[in-house]
Amino acid sequence: MAVSHRLFRPATTTVKNTFSSFLIRSISSSSSSSSGSSLDPKIDLEEAASQLEKSSSTSTSPSPYKGRNFHWVFLGCPGVGKGTYASRLSSLLGVPHIATGDLVREELSSSGLLSSQLKELVNHGKLVPDEFIISLLSKRLQAGKEKGESGYILDGFPRTVTQAEILEGVTNIDLVINLKLREEALLAKCLGRRICSECGANYNVACIDIKGDDDSPRMYMPPLLPPPNCESKLISRADDTEEVVKERLRIYNKMTQPVEEFYKKRRKLLEFELPGGIPESWPRLLRALHLENDKQSAIA
Ligand code: AMP
Repeated sequence: MAVSHRLFRPATTTVKNTFSSFLIRSISSSSSSSSGSSLDPKIDLEEAASQLEKSSSTSTSPSPYKGRNFHWVFLGCPGVGKGTYASRLSSLLGVPHIATGDLVREELSSSGLLSSQLKELVNHGKLVPDEFIISLLSKRLQAGKEKGESGYILDGFPRTVTQAEILEGVTNIDLVINLKLREEALLAKCLGRRICSECGANYNVACIDIKGDDDSPRMYMPPLLPPPNCESKLISRADDTEEVVKERLRIYNKMTQPVEEFYKKRRKLLEFELPGGIPESWPRLLRALHLENDKQSAIA
């Protein structure tokens, strides 16, 4: 596809530094701006990290976990349920759930040449260029910082080792949750995904029932059906077709699986195999995260 050649560039050191400075600008306070762009990048990184700590500790979040300053990342194949569990944890912990896929879709809803070129990539299951994603994430973090947000749960970022290196350079990620689900279920979950075009809520019309055998137990995931007020407004994502989901899975294995290794080496990776649908998986995930005793966990 011609567009991908034009938009993708190899991650040279210069490009990496540019990404870093995007992120740094977003998490540094305006008081550091007087130092300008000629600063030693290392000093910028330290400054950025300390500003992030400060902004996190002044949050007014009502969560009982306030002050614990979560900087978590969700990894996992398309369709695994990152958005579902990240958004539940976000409510429980009182930290924002930032999904770069949502930021991309929001951006692509605007018109313009760049937007239509990027739409081509997204709709074909390709990753968008690192520069673009870093810029979107930076803007989102900056807006959150101005609102006094504390910490975050990232979903869909980092997706390449370059992105992981940049993130590691500017902040301290304390936990990376790698969600896993049997491959047979992933495609069905993507094909069954529906979104309410009005309120944005996610549902799933697929009923997944995989027979057990000697090696693995039966897996049953009931559909997550919409309430009557969303029923007539359901849409599917343009990249949730069989062909594109297969391409997204291929890209995940090639580009994002190395990110799992990256965090494993740094002892930050928690592998979590989803045993089934939300009712079975949520309590087990909370146990794995040592959050199971909190009264609010049941409500989230
Ligand atoms: P998602 O909603 O996470 O499946 O993301 C939807 C699409 O947005 C992906 O298939 C990519 O085209 C793009 N995207 C989201 N996050 C990233 C990222 N971190 N790096 C590159 N592309 C991304």
